Amino acid sequence: MARYPSGITPLPGRDVTDPRARARQLVLEDDAHPVSSTAPCVNPECAGPVDFVGKGTMPLYCSNTCRSRASKLRAVATEQLEVIERTLDETKHLAGIPRDELRSRARMLQWWLARLGPADER
Ligand SMILES: [Zn+2]
Repeated sequence: MARYPSGITPLPGRDVTDPRARARQLVLEDDAHPVSSTAPCVNPECAGPVDFVGKGTMPLYCSNTCRSRASKLRAVATEQLEVIERTLDETKHLAGIPRDELRSRARMLQWWLARLGPADER
C-alpha cells in the first residue's frame, strides 16, 4: 500500500465521442475515483504530507523549512557535480585519477537532484 495513494486511474469516459456525455461520464468517474489531495513532501529527507487546497499556489513542500532544505541540498549537490565534472574534464589525459569513483558520486548526486523538485517552485 502506497504511503499516499494518488487515486490516479484511467478514466473510461475519455473515449466517449459526445462531449456532453463525456463531461457527465468524467464527473461520475471523478466521484467514484477521486484523485487524492494529499501527496508526500518533495523534500527527500521529509516524510510529511502536503495537502492540495485547490487555490493559489500548488505546494510541493510541507513547510518553508523543507523548501529551504531542498533548496540548500540542490545548491550543494549542483556545486559538487560541477566540481566533479570539471575535475574529470581537467584530468582526462592524466593517469591515476579515480574516475570510476568520481563518476559514481556524480551519478548519485544526479539521482538526488532528480528527487529535489524544481528549483523555482513557488
Ligand atoms: Zn517536508
